[in-house]
Amino acid sequence: MKLRHPKKSSIIVATAWGVLLCMACNNNTSNQQQKNSAVITKASGLQKNTITALQDTPTRAIVYQPITYDTTKQYIYLTFDDGPQGGTKQCLELCKKLGIKATFFMVGRHGNDKHGKEQVKIISSQYPQILLANHSYTHANEKYQFFYQHPLMAEEDFYKAQDSLSVPFKIIRLPGNSAWVRKNEIKCSGLVRSVCNKLDSAGYNVMGWDVEWRFTRGKSFPVERPAVMATHVDTALHRHTHTPNHVVILTHDRMFRLPNYADSLQKFIMILKQNPKYVFETMDHYPGLKM
Ligand SMILES: [Zn+2]
Repeated sequence: MKLRHPKKSSIIVATAWGVLLCMACNNNTSNQQQKNSAVITKASGLQKNTITALQDTPTRAIVYQPITYDTTKQYIYLTFDDGPQGGTKQCLELCKKLGIKATFFMVGRHGNDKHGKEQVKIISSQYPQILLANHSYTHANEKYQFFYQHPLMAEEDFYKAQDSLSVPFKIIRLPGNSAWVRKNEIKCSGLVRSVCNKLDSAGYNVMGWDVEWRFTRGKSFPVERPAVMATHVDTALHRHTHTPNHVVILTHDRMFRLPNYADSLQKFIMILKQNPKYVFETMDHYPGLKM
């Protein structure tokens, strides 16, 4: 539970077996850090044959690196919500194939079973191209009103996801609600204000979105065609985004689980990539975050 408290950015180490360890950064020495040190010590004592077997997933550190914005560019933050789930693998593979950055806002309880854990581990290992972020543990059990009317419960739900998914940075998206919490900013509806205040006090950022690729009820297939979505992105950047020249696109992994819809995602990305002004970034590089 200490992950909620540090005010400075965290350094996360992905060990050879994919465990993410929060290593330090605030001045308080916590039990969690002591435990992590113990695991690191254990890692260094791995048997030689075990190390050989894990050579393809070497130890690496996840360290926040601020970027300098190019004023001639416009920044695209492609985000996938609700994973790990059917479609996560397809979305990741496309981002890798097309060489773009993206952020996966994941749900803690979806990463509970063996398959889910595996997918979370793969997403975690792809930073800095791919960022894992927090989308709550229960996804409000789809009862948003009740969830946000109980802010203490909601707050704990986000901390549980932060821990269970080993989310590297304090970046959250609220289930079913577009809200913004950054340095010196809380912009949200009255329903979520209380939980936003709490998350802000704990050093978290909350990210909303500017453009949504909608999905059909029931089967969650994409509603808009790729070219229409690309026009929406262009229009948003011309008329209004939360931060000028930065556009956050909301999609959901499951929309692209079938080959024809994965193809739609590919077409959408390809259209955006043709614009020389566009730069794909991960949400940790959105302006004004507390990092
Ligand atoms: Zn969601």
